[in-house]
Amino acid sequence: MSLPTTDVKTEDLSAQTAKTKQLIVQKFGGSSVSDAEGIKRVARRVVDAQKAGNEVVVVVSAMGDTTDELLDLAAQVTDSAPAREMDMLLSAGERISMALLAMAINKFGASAQSFTGSQAGMITDGIHGKARIIDVDPHRIRTALDKGHIAIVAGFQGMTRSTREITTLGRGGSDTTAVALAAALEADVCEIYTDVDGIYTADPRVVSTATKIDRISSEEMLELAASGAKILHLRCVEYARRFGVPLHVRSSFSQNEGTWVLPSADDKITIQEGVALEQPIISGVAHDRSEAKVTVVGVPDIPGKAAAIFQVIAKAHSNIDMIVQNVSTHGTGRTDISFTLPIVEGADALTALRAAQPEIGFESIEYNENVGKLSLIGAGMRSHPGVSATFFKALSDAGININMISTSEIRISVVTHADLLDDAVRAIHKAFELDGESEATVYGGTGR
Ligand code: ADP
Ligand code: ASP
Ligand code: MG
Repeated sequence: MSLPTTDVKTEDLSAQTAKTKQLIVQKFGGSSVSDAEGIKRVARRVVDAQKAGNEVVVVVSAMGDTTDELLDLAAQVTDSAPAREMDMLLSAGERISMALLAMAINKFGASAQSFTGSQAGMITDGIHGKARIIDVDPHRIRTALDKGHIAIVAGFQGMTRSTREITTLGRGGSDTTAVALAAALEADVCEIYTDVDGIYTADPRVVSTATKIDRISSEEMLELAASGAKILHLRCVEYARRFGVPLHVRSSFSQNEGTWVLPSADDKITIQEGVALEQPIISGVAHDRSEAKVTVVGVPDIPGKAAAIFQVIAKAHSNIDMIVQNVSTHGTGRTDISFTLPIVEGADALTALRAAQPEIGFESIEYNENVGKLSLIGAGMRSHPGVSATFFKALSDAGININMISTSEIRISVVTHADLLDDAVRAIHKAFELDGESEATVYGGTGR
């Protein structure tokens, strides 16, 4: 596959223009458009991409930490904001950046038009706060491109078809807007511009010596994103794989080549030079502070009780992650069931569980937000006992106590106390010799 790029040096221009015109979707995250200077820097980059002969669609996130600030603001007004109004509020963040970016581009002599998610044809289901895209009808974007405009689209938002309600896609959802548009417009590439040079073997904010990955298979990236690596929204990786959209994750602050996420089915595993074929291939370490641990204490140890608990949770639209059931305490006929779920879903899940307590018959509920999850991702883990031995020895040498464990063919995850999580990530990264020679650059953002 040819890997398109928009960084065209002057001497390459003639070669570029000789090629057929490419359609590029560029997505800029909040840290790339955090202030007026950032918006102008991004505008120049977008205009350059168009001048190089491409059709350009831009998806923007809200400026800096705007989404978090809007959430804080809502929390000061009420502790029970209607989900519909929350989406009206949060979708405003992206509208600010889309309009400012369009103004900046027009100032630089190119022509840009901005569109909200609904104007851009992002049709979603009606689950406010975590809506899913069910259709994309980008005809207004196509028309804008045909007229020579750069189309700017507000990320993270859409509209229901029948009721025309405004929805948001969940935190980090602008990545998914970009990929969905790229798929619908049959774009040649979707470029995700952020505040680091690409995808690393761990979050460079935690492991300064993390190594940049040049190419990663979508399978590996899916597992990293599912385990909390927030560099890409999980659903954007799924979407890109399903529709064969090549993703290029790179920095908006540098011209460096970033990381290619390759969707092709025959490129399952990133082949590392010098690694014997049957060795486990470690992709990286991910961590996640966004989950809480729930323990349902004293559940009657009879068939059907776990099912009843998880039905209640599913009805509250919560996504359960790790689950552990303890051995029944001898003679009591009762057991404890622990699981993790996103903190933002904690309150609803607890309310639903409490309501079902008399019927299910458990004794109490414990809820702990002070936990963190670490995951080591790599192919061939289960068939290499040495991997778990190294993993648990590294944690014990670093004095890290483990709360929960889960494993799969390509992942080992543990839950620890939140305060120990960064140390745990560094210990595992080092134990699996993932450290690079130089320090990774973090160009911007607050890491919030
Ligand atoms: P944006 O605002 O551009 O969407 P995000 O904050 O959502 O940016 O994602 C970029 C951040 O993801 C980086 O600043 C970095 O701290 C974090 N990150 C987590 N895991 C990784 C990883 N494996 N590689 C690179 N960055 C990572
Ligand atoms: N602004 C939204 C958020 O902060 C969406 C995004 O940035 O992708 O989650
Ligand atoms: Mg993001």
